[in-house]
Amino acid sequence: MLKRLRSYLLRYSKRYGKRLVNPGFVAQTSLTLLFENHFTLGRILLEFADKVSGFTEEDLRDCFWWAWSPLFWPTIVGLGNVTTWDILIQNGHSAKDLRETWGAAGLDLLTSLLMTEAMGTPPGWRKGLRDTPLVQRFLAIRELIKRMRDCLGADAFDVTRAVDSPSDPLWGLRSIHDLWAYPEQLADDRLDALQVAFDHLADYRAPAEEKFARLSQLERFVAIGQDSSAEAKDLADSLASEGLGDALDLFLQARVPIKPQIGNADYCPRCFVRLPGVQLRNLRAGGLVLCDNCRQVLIYWRPGIPKVVV
Ligand SMILES: [Zn+2]
Repeated sequence: MLKRLRSYLLRYSKRYGKRLVNPGFVAQTSLTLLFENHFTLGRILLEFADKVSGFTEEDLRDCFWWAWSPLFWPTIVGLGNVTTWDILIQNGHSAKDLRETWGAAGLDLLTSLLMTEAMGTPPGWRKGLRDTPLVQRFLAIRELIKRMRDCLGADAFDVTRAVDSPSDPLWGLRSIHDLWAYPEQLADDRLDALQVAFDHLADYRAPAEEKFARLSQLERFVAIGQDSSAEAKDLADSLASEGLGDALDLFLQARVPIKPQIGNADYCPRCFVRLPGVQLRNLRAGGLVLCDNCRQVLIYWRPGIPKVVV
């Protein structure tokens, strides 16, 4: 019985995702109904993830991608590049109207909860270096959040703000269980924890981006001629103490911008000359290299976003 329900939910989410990019379906459905249906589906998915042992985290992720990404980024599930949002705008809805209906349906909070449940905690850079597919999954979710915020506004998924509205259907949320209980007392610490978990997804950095983040900050101080400021000195000290002294020395000798090489590219992002194999291997292993050809850029590697995630 549970097995049948599981495969039904997977099939339903996929079919629903396909309908969301079908202009005929979107035109026939009222906006309120569309977003309310999303809310209901999200609740069912969370309930399943919480209570049904055969419904795995991967199932939850697949259902999430199928049902949510068509709204803002259908390409990532292989459904073309016209979003439900585009179709709704073409049908005469204003962006303001869409944002308000989305907010009133409680989708800021529900989506944050669903995403953090489905995606879990991003790996730190050392673990990420050993698991590129995992890194790519988190790069995809970061990109989805960016696209959602481009449509919904920069303050979308500010969980505290979402709950400030007394009419919010998730008023009183403390945990997934509370989605169905609606207790009167609001537990701020649980909301704060949800916000932190969501921000980890939104602000995720690929391994070398995270590893060399302080070096990139130092680069900005050098670029504006403040390399002897107290902040720059602190950054240099912390890089040395984190075991990144070699990368720091390389930067201080070269004093050139730091740029990513992305995905399967094998050339310098500045002069476009192909890098030698030994440098490419160093980059893939999380190193920082100076282009031998132009000597005008320090390069690190960032995996590309996958073409599809399901
Ligand atoms: Zn170059």
